[in-house]
Amino acid sequence: MEPNRVRTPAAGERTLTGVAAGPGTATGPVAVLAPPPTLPERRPRIGDPGAETARAVAALERVAELLRGWAAEAGGAAGEILEAQAAMAGDPQLAAGIGERVREGLPAEWALDAAVTSYQELFRSMGGYLAERAADLGDVRDRALAVLLDVPMPRLPAPGHPFVLVAEDLAPAETARLDPGSVLAIVTRLGGPTGHTAILARSLGIPAVVACAEAHRLRDGVPVTVDGDRGEVVVRPAPERVAAAARRHRRRAVLAESAVGPGRTADGHRVELLLNLGGEEPESAAAHDCEGVGLLRTEFLFLDRRTEPTVEEQRTVYAELFRAFDGRVVTVRTLDAGTDKPLPFADPGTEPNPALGVRGFRIARTAPELLRRQLTAVARAARDTGAHVRVMAPMIATPEEAEEFAALARGAGLTEVGAVIEVPSAALLADRVLQRVDFVSIGTNDLSQYTLAADRTLDTLPDLLDPWQPALLHLVGRIGAAGRRLGRPVGVCGEAAADPLLALVLVGLGVTGLSMAAPALPAVRHALAGHSLRDCRDLAALALEAATPRRARAAVRDAADPAVTDL
Ligand code: PEP
Ligand code: MG
Repeated sequence: MEPNRVRTPAAGERTLTGVAAGPGTATGPVAVLAPPPTLPERRPRIGDPGAETARAVAALERVAELLRGWAAEAGGAAGEILEAQAAMAGDPQLAAGIGERVREGLPAEWALDAAVTSYQELFRSMGGYLAERAADLGDVRDRALAVLLDVPMPRLPAPGHPFVLVAEDLAPAETARLDPGSVLAIVTRLGGPTGHTAILARSLGIPAVVACAEAHRLRDGVPVTVDGDRGEVVVRPAPERVAAAARRHRRRAVLAESAVGPGRTADGHRVELLLNLGGEEPESAAAHDCEGVGLLRTEFLFLDRRTEPTVEEQRTVYAELFRAFDGRVVTVRTLDAGTDKPLPFADPGTEPNPALGVRGFRIARTAPELLRRQLTAVARAARDTGAHVRVMAPMIATPEEAEEFAALARGAGLTEVGAVIEVPSAALLADRVLQRVDFVSIGTNDLSQYTLAADRTLDTLPDLLDPWQPALLHLVGRIGAAGRRLGRPVGVCGEAAADPLLALVLVGLGVTGLSMAAPALPAVRHALAGHSLRDCRDLAALALEAATPRRARAAVRDAADPAVTDL
């Protein structure tokens, strides 16, 4: 057996599967997050409805205050998420919903529970980002209920030693406050690859598996090995598995120190290695060893805003980031509001299928001035800082839209203009799209969702959303070939770029730049350095021929050099 591969389960081991949500491996004892408080069995009669409502509102206010305090401590992306959750706790509509139920005779605790449940149902029925926010609202309820019942709030376990945190789901309030020094890995029964648990675990560098259906069977103290790359949790792992996982962990740590500098294959073919950013602190983001930013999700900068930030406010935010990256490229994606990332100031209204509605560049149809103002702010920040700025629009579906965006961006004074290809129609006509812009970047997350017709926020269809789906790779190959013919750069900024094995395939398909969360960079850089462009093309051919994503990955894994890919 190869030293770093332990495939078949050893006697006594049991493997639970879920969705890989934070790269890396870790072994340790389970500590289960205590269940939330529950309503008492007996429901008391209420006295004054006004006083009863005030009791519930006061509990919610306390929770909002607590969350705001944590937000200030956490800062960055975590801080914004906690702020948004605090806003939920302070929402006057929630208080009104509670008041109504109290007037119907429910005590504060029951009224709170009923009001939150009805909001959660509404959120879930809307799908996407809002469906995932149902968990955040549930956390607000649990904390307020704890205040009302005068019992301890849900809190992270503290067994006194490092542990693997197992939970039904993690609210941002918990995930954002995790200490990577004591939480070795995260396993949740619910959650999806685009949920907060996944996003925050990745930014904290904690291995994570979400949507693990059998997570609730795990008990305190049971040893597990969590593989956040494959989405596996091995219960009572054999010593050789523990040793292999530890070797992988050490190799990653060494890699983070040693795999440095610009991306290139073994034969010197350049592949830009870039960072995906949202609301991170500019200075700490710029400290990562990368060639710049391949995707700045600008909507994440303004998620907490009820009104549109002014051109000057936007200019200040962009300029700070451009300065921090000091000469390195920053690729700004214009607002991708709608469906899973609603912005109050760019709300397309209620749509029956928001993922197929007015989102991404389509905002140019309903609010063209919003897009113009954003482009003006980006152009001013670029001019003021002298930075190397690229700008691209999400959800470009047709060559005509690419042309329209290019005209808008150039009109604002921006010179490097691109399109995110994440709609199959744009992939099919990649040649024509590329003739109208300077570069494209493939958003594999949405391209999977739209190619396989599978909602990316669901926990139930991970196999269809697997970026190794041969159909998805065929589309990437088509875009890569168009890029080669026209001599234009083709990047990937979806999660697929962060998988070292898949990165080799993408490069073999003609991709010239890979953009990912910072912790994934060293392993991808290392995998590239161990393979020539020819190797990458051979691996891509294997993946394209495979019948299923699982077989595609297995074929590439078996053919790639294990010394550089089995990390
Ligand atoms: C994508 O769709 O792959 C992408 C990078 O954009 P987002 O995840 O923000 O939709
Ligand atoms: Mg997208």
